[in-house]
Amino acid sequence: MNAIQVLRKTIEFYRELGFEYLPLKSSALRNLAIGQTSESIPASVNPHQQVSEDTCSYQLNKEAVLDDLRNEIGDCRRCKLYKGRKNIVFGEGDPEADIMFIGEGPGRDEDLQARPFVGDAGKLLNNLILKLGLRRQDVYIANIVKCRPPNNRNPEEDEISICSPFVERQIAVIDPKVIVCLGKISAQVILRSKNAISKLRGNFFSYKHIPVMPTFHPAYLLRNPKDKWLTWEDMQKVLEKIK
Ligand code: SF4
Repeated sequence: MNAIQVLRKTIEFYRELGFEYLPLKSSALRNLAIGQTSESIPASVNPHQQVSEDTCSYQLNKEAVLDDLRNEIGDCRRCKLYKGRKNIVFGEGDPEADIMFIGEGPGRDEDLQARPFVGDAGKLLNNLILKLGLRRQDVYIANIVKCRPPNNRNPEEDEISICSPFVERQIAVIDPKVIVCLGKISAQVILRSKNAISKLRGNFFSYKHIPVMPTFHPAYLLRNPKDKWLTWEDMQKVLEKIK
Protein backbone atom coordinates (compact mmCIF):
# COMPACT_ATOMS: atom_id res chain seq x y z
CA MET A 1 0.00 0.00 0.00
CA ASN A 2 1.54 3.31 -1.03
CA ALA A 3 1.56 6.50 1.02
CA ILE A 4 -1.50 8.01 -0.71
CA GLN A 5 -3.49 4.83 -0.12
CA VAL A 6 -2.40 4.84 3.52
CA LEU A 7 -3.50 8.47 3.83
CA ARG A 8 -6.87 7.72 2.20
CA LYS A 9 -7.37 4.70 4.45
CA THR A 10 -6.49 6.78 7.49
CA ILE A 11 -8.96 9.51 6.57
CA GLU A 12 -11.74 6.97 5.92
CA PHE A 13 -10.97 5.24 9.19
CA TYR A 14 -11.19 8.41 11.25
CA ARG A 15 -14.31 9.57 9.39
CA GLU A 16 -16.03 6.28 10.22
CA LEU A 17 -15.23 6.90 13.87
CA GLY A 18 -16.90 10.31 13.65
CA PHE A 19 -13.83 12.55 13.58
CA GLU A 20 -14.39 15.81 11.72
CA TYR A 21 -10.69 16.34 11.15
CA LEU A 22 -7.60 14.17 11.08
CA PRO A 23 -6.04 14.47 14.54
CA LEU A 24 -2.46 14.72 13.31
CA LYS A 25 0.13 17.45 13.48
CA SER A 26 1.00 18.89 10.07
CA SER A 27 4.52 17.46 10.32
CA ALA A 28 3.04 14.02 10.90
CA LEU A 29 0.77 14.43 7.89
CA ARG A 30 3.72 15.48 5.77
CA ASN A 31 5.69 12.42 6.86
CA LEU A 32 2.68 10.22 6.20
CA ALA A 33 2.33 11.69 2.73
CA ILE A 34 5.96 10.98 1.86
CA GLY A 35 5.75 7.51 3.38
CA GLN A 36 8.03 8.06 6.35
CA THR A 37 7.31 7.04 9.89
CA SER A 38 8.00 9.54 12.60
CA GLU A 39 7.84 9.81 16.36
CA SER A 40 5.19 12.46 15.79
CA ILE A 41 2.83 10.08 14.01
CA PRO A 42 0.46 8.60 16.57
CA ALA A 43 0.64 4.82 16.84
CA SER A 44 -3.00 4.74 15.76
CA VAL A 45 -2.01 5.79 12.26
CA ASN A 46 1.47 4.37 11.84
CA PRO A 47 1.23 3.25 8.22
CA HIS A 48 3.88 0.57 8.45
CA GLN A 49 2.51 -1.21 11.48
CA GLN A 50 -1.20 -0.64 11.21
CA VAL A 51 -2.27 -1.29 7.63
CA SER A 52 -2.25 -4.77 6.16
CA GLU A 53 -1.96 -4.74 2.39
CA ASP A 54 -3.34 -8.26 2.05
CA THR A 55 -6.53 -7.76 3.94
CA CYS A 56 -6.81 -3.97 3.87
CA SER A 57 -7.83 -4.35 7.49
CA TYR A 58 -7.07 -1.42 9.72
CA GLN A 59 -5.68 -2.53 13.06
CA LEU A 60 -6.09 0.39 15.35
CA ASN A 61 -4.30 1.38 18.48
CA LYS A 62 -7.46 1.92 20.47
CA GLU A 63 -5.79 3.81 23.28
CA ALA A 64 -4.35 6.35 20.85
CA VAL A 65 -7.69 6.82 19.10
CA LEU A 66 -9.44 7.32 22.45
CA ASP A 67 -6.81 9.92 23.32
CA ASP A 68 -7.58 11.65 20.02
CA LEU A 69 -11.28 11.63 20.89
CA ARG A 70 -10.59 13.07 24.35
CA ASN A 71 -8.53 15.81 22.73
CA GLU A 72 -11.35 16.57 20.32
CA ILE A 73 -13.80 16.95 23.23
CA GLY A 74 -11.36 19.41 24.76
CA ASP A 75 -12.82 21.93 27.23
CA CYS A 76 -16.25 21.15 25.85
CA ARG A 77 -19.06 23.70 26.01
CA ARG A 78 -21.28 22.09 23.42
CA CYS A 79 -24.20 21.71 25.85
CA LYS A 80 -25.31 23.58 28.96
CA LEU A 81 -23.95 20.96 31.37
CA TYR A 82 -20.51 22.58 31.13
CA LYS A 83 -21.73 25.39 33.38
CA GLY A 84 -21.88 23.32 36.56
CA ARG A 85 -19.13 20.80 36.05
CA LYS A 86 -15.72 20.76 37.65
CA ASN A 87 -14.34 18.10 35.33
CA ILE A 88 -15.25 16.25 32.18
CA VAL A 89 -15.52 12.54 32.95
CA PHE A 90 -14.41 10.91 29.73
CA GLY A 91 -14.37 7.27 30.82
CA GLU A 92 -11.63 4.82 31.69
CA GLY A 93 -10.55 1.23 31.52
CA ASP A 94 -9.10 -1.25 29.08
CA PRO A 95 -9.56 -0.08 25.47
CA GLU A 96 -9.53 -3.77 24.53
CA ALA A 97 -12.17 -4.68 27.11
CA ASP A 98 -14.73 -7.40 26.42
CA ILE A 99 -17.29 -5.64 28.60
CA MET A 100 -18.16 -1.95 28.42
CA PHE A 101 -20.34 -0.52 31.20
CA ILE A 102 -22.28 2.63 30.37
CA GLY A 103 -23.99 4.73 33.01
CA GLU A 104 -25.98 7.92 32.56
CA GLY A 105 -23.70 10.68 33.83
CA PRO A 106 -21.19 11.67 36.51
CA GLY A 107 -22.27 12.38 40.07
CA ARG A 108 -20.57 14.58 42.64
CA ASP A 109 -17.60 12.28 43.38
CA GLU A 110 -17.08 11.54 39.71
CA ASP A 111 -17.18 15.24 38.85
CA LEU A 112 -14.56 15.97 41.52
CA GLN A 113 -12.25 13.12 40.54
CA ALA A 114 -12.87 13.16 36.76
CA ARG A 115 -13.43 9.40 36.90
CA PRO A 116 -16.60 7.39 36.31
CA PHE A 117 -18.27 5.42 39.11
CA VAL A 118 -16.01 6.29 42.03
CA GLY A 119 -18.63 7.09 44.70
CA ASP A 120 -20.76 4.62 46.64
CA ALA A 121 -22.42 3.39 43.44
CA GLY A 122 -18.93 2.92 42.00
CA LYS A 123 -17.92 0.74 44.96
CA LEU A 124 -20.94 -1.45 44.31
CA LEU A 125 -20.00 -1.67 40.63
CA ASN A 126 -16.41 -2.56 41.55
CA ASN A 127 -17.69 -5.39 43.77
CA LEU A 128 -19.88 -6.65 40.98
CA ILE A 129 -16.92 -6.65 38.59
CA LEU A 130 -14.79 -8.51 41.16
CA LYS A 131 -17.52 -11.11 41.62
CA LEU A 132 -17.38 -11.69 37.88
CA GLY A 133 -13.73 -12.65 38.32
CA LEU A 134 -12.53 -9.45 36.67
CA ARG A 135 -10.78 -6.32 37.85
CA ARG A 136 -12.02 -2.81 37.23
CA GLN A 137 -9.10 -2.22 34.89
CA ASP A 138 -10.22 -5.18 32.76
CA VAL A 139 -13.44 -3.47 31.68
CA TYR A 140 -14.23 -0.06 30.21
CA ILE A 141 -16.58 2.34 32.01
CA ALA A 142 -18.20 5.45 30.52
CA ASN A 143 -21.38 7.50 30.67
CA ILE A 144 -23.96 8.83 28.25
CA VAL A 145 -23.13 12.44 29.22
CA LYS A 146 -19.66 13.45 30.35
CA CYS A 147 -20.51 16.35 32.65
CA ARG A 148 -22.44 16.23 35.91
CA PRO A 149 -26.08 17.32 35.64
CA PRO A 150 -26.95 19.84 38.39
CA ASN A 151 -28.15 18.18 41.62
CA ASN A 152 -27.74 14.81 39.96
CA ARG A 153 -30.89 15.27 37.90
CA ASN A 154 -31.35 13.14 34.82
CA PRO A 155 -29.62 14.47 31.73
CA GLU A 156 -32.08 16.24 29.46
CA GLU A 157 -32.84 15.35 25.86
CA ASP A 158 -30.82 18.16 24.32
CA GLU A 159 -27.80 17.32 26.49
CA ILE A 160 -28.07 13.64 25.59
CA SER A 161 -28.36 14.29 21.89
CA ILE A 162 -25.32 16.58 21.91
CA CYS A 163 -23.09 14.41 24.12
CA SER A 164 -24.08 10.84 23.29
CA PRO A 165 -22.20 10.77 19.95
CA PHE A 166 -19.02 10.78 22.04
CA VAL A 167 -19.93 7.59 23.89
CA GLU A 168 -21.07 6.07 20.61
CA ARG A 169 -17.63 6.77 19.22
CA GLN A 170 -16.04 5.21 22.30
CA ILE A 171 -18.14 2.11 21.64
CA ALA A 172 -17.02 2.10 18.01
CA VAL A 173 -13.36 2.20 19.04
CA ILE A 174 -13.54 -0.29 21.92
CA ASP A 175 -15.90 -2.61 20.04
CA PRO A 176 -16.64 -4.69 23.17
CA LYS A 177 -18.16 -8.14 23.13
CA VAL A 178 -20.97 -6.93 25.37
CA ILE A 179 -22.30 -3.54 26.46
CA VAL A 180 -23.90 -3.39 29.90
CA CYS A 181 -26.26 -0.43 30.22
CA LEU A 182 -26.52 0.66 33.83
CA GLY A 183 -29.96 2.09 34.44
CA LYS A 184 -32.87 3.49 32.50
CA ILE A 185 -31.24 6.47 30.77
CA SER A 186 -28.31 4.48 29.45
CA ALA A 187 -30.52 1.64 28.22
CA GLN A 188 -33.07 3.95 26.62
CA VAL A 189 -30.41 6.00 24.82
CA ILE A 190 -28.33 3.08 23.56
CA LEU A 191 -31.37 1.02 22.55
CA ARG A 192 -33.45 3.99 21.32
CA SER A 193 -36.23 2.68 23.55
CA LYS A 194 -38.85 4.25 25.78
CA ASN A 195 -39.36 1.11 27.86
CA ALA A 196 -38.75 1.03 31.60
CA ILE A 197 -35.55 -0.57 32.84
CA SER A 198 -37.66 -3.16 34.69
CA LYS A 199 -38.98 -4.30 31.28
CA LEU A 200 -35.62 -4.14 29.50
CA ARG A 201 -33.29 -5.69 32.06
CA GLY A 202 -32.32 -9.32 31.87
CA ASN A 203 -32.66 -9.58 28.08
CA PHE A 204 -30.07 -9.13 25.40
CA PHE A 205 -30.64 -6.48 22.76
CA SER A 206 -28.35 -5.31 20.01
CA TYR A 207 -26.51 -2.08 19.29
CA LYS A 208 -24.80 -2.15 15.90
CA HIS A 209 -24.40 -5.94 16.24
CA ILE A 210 -22.97 -5.68 19.77
CA PRO A 211 -25.06 -7.53 22.38
CA VAL A 212 -26.45 -5.15 24.99
CA MET A 213 -27.56 -6.19 28.48
CA PRO A 214 -29.54 -3.53 30.33
CA THR A 215 -29.53 -3.85 34.09
CA PHE A 216 -30.23 -1.74 37.15
CA HIS A 217 -28.04 1.26 37.96
CA PRO A 218 -25.82 0.63 41.01
CA ALA A 219 -27.33 3.73 42.68
CA TYR A 220 -30.74 2.07 42.39
CA LEU A 221 -29.32 -1.10 43.94
CA LEU A 222 -27.99 0.91 46.88
CA ARG A 223 -31.56 2.06 47.53
CA ASN A 224 -33.09 -1.34 46.71
CA PRO A 225 -30.57 -4.00 47.78
CA LYS A 226 -33.21 -6.72 47.47
CA ASP A 227 -32.88 -6.37 43.65
CA LYS A 228 -29.15 -7.05 43.63
CA TRP A 229 -29.74 -10.68 42.79
CA LEU A 230 -31.54 -9.63 39.59
CA THR A 231 -28.48 -7.70 38.45
CA TRP A 232 -26.34 -10.67 39.41
CA GLU A 233 -28.54 -12.86 37.19
CA ASP A 234 -28.09 -10.37 34.34
CA MET A 235 -24.33 -10.42 34.78
CA GLN A 236 -24.24 -14.20 34.68
CA LYS A 237 -25.75 -13.96 31.21
CA VAL A 238 -23.07 -11.43 30.26
CA LEU A 239 -20.35 -13.80 31.47
CA GLU A 240 -21.83 -16.59 29.35
CA LYS A 241 -21.87 -14.28 26.33
CA ILE A 242 -18.19 -13.32 26.52
CA LYS A 243 -16.95 -16.90 26.99
S1 SF4 B 1 -22.01 16.92 28.70
FE1 SF4 B 1 -20.88 16.38 26.85
S2 SF4 B 1 -21.56 17.83 25.27
FE2 SF4 B 1 -22.16 18.66 27.29
S3 SF4 B 1 -20.48 20.03 27.84
FE3 SF4 B 1 -20.06 18.02 28.76
S4 SF4 B 1 -18.75 16.93 27.28
FE4 SF4 B 1 -19.71 18.67 26.23
